[in-house]
Amino acid sequence: IPLLIVLFASIIAYVLTHWFIRNVANAYYELQSAIKNGHIKAYAQPLIYSHSGQLSGLEILARWHHPKFGLINPDTFIQVAEETGLIIQLTQTLFKQVATTLADYADRLPDQLHVGFNISREHCKSLQLVEDCKKFLVQAKNKTIILVIEITERQLIEVTDMTTKLFKELHELNAKIALDDFGVGNSNLSYLNNFAIDYLKIDRSFVGHIGSDALSKNILDSIIEITQACNIESCAEGVETEEQALYLKEKGVTYQQGYYYLEPIAIEDFVQHPMFQKCLRP
Ligand code: C2E
Ligand code: MG
Ligand code: MG
Ligand code: MG
Repeated sequence: IPLLIVLFASIIAYVLTHWFIRNVANAYYELQSAIKNGHIKAYAQPLIYSHSGQLSGLEILARWHHPKFGLINPDTFIQVAEETGLIIQLTQTLFKQVATTLADYADRLPDQLHVGFNISREHCKSLQLVEDCKKFLVQAKNKTIILVIEITERQLIEVTDMTTKLFKELHELNAKIALDDFGVGNSNLSYLNNFAIDYLKIDRSFVGHIGSDALSKNILDSIIEITQACNIESCAEGVETEEQALYLKEKGVTYQQGYYYLEPIAIEDFVQHPMFQKCLRP
């Protein structure tokens, strides 16, 4: 009997291991060819200055146009990209798509247009990111663009000589560092000092409860107060209603972003959109 159990267990282990390897390898292969074949597309969503309602910039969000499965959202493939080390290549294709699209408007862009990218921890482990940002600015043919490096507080980035140097060099390129998903990750306030964070992106879970849940609203108010006390900017994510927009404006949140203004759309469509066209110089 014990022998049978051992045999049975090893068969299960064998089958599971193979299933696992096949699927992870498969995901790696699929994603790698998607990147190579241009199926990973840059989408863009506007960021709006609360006080004026003007466009301050855009955030780039990845989408996978899968030939069989259609449009795939990043929640299903970013983690695979991170686990397989493909995330750097993936981000580089986004940098390139956005830079070449914006280059067509290089002479007409408003000064200090913010262009934000979500950057994974893996990408912050070397100075490659600085090279990628420099390349972006050259390809976009516009020196006044402010790159925004969004690092999520869900992934802890260690304070080392390397990361300190990285963020210093990014700042020298006039880039801003934003701490994404603030309030639902580690809420590591020492980041504000250690990485000289320029602004917090307040997670949409707090914004969505304005007017309905008192505790969430109090937390939101406190986060806004932290940004003001530390003299850093703030961006509210997931703004969906006029009520929320007005409340955030009144509270002095710097930027707003959400379906109330515009959902993310393909970067080629974004540059045609009236919201973007309106801010171009003639
Ligand atoms: P995020 O950086 O916090 O991006 C905001 C997410 O909220 C986006 O989801 C956006 O479509 C969504 N959103 C914007 N406005 C609203 C709204 O009014 N209501 C609601 N309910 N949602 C709104 P998306 O595009 O699915 O991206 C999800 C996450 O995937 C991003 O969260 C980011 O963490 C990650 N991600 C996306 N693109 C990339 C990328 O290129 N690289 C990396 N490393 N991560 C990425
Ligand atoms: Mg983000
Ligand atoms: Mg976020
Ligand atoms: Mg989020």
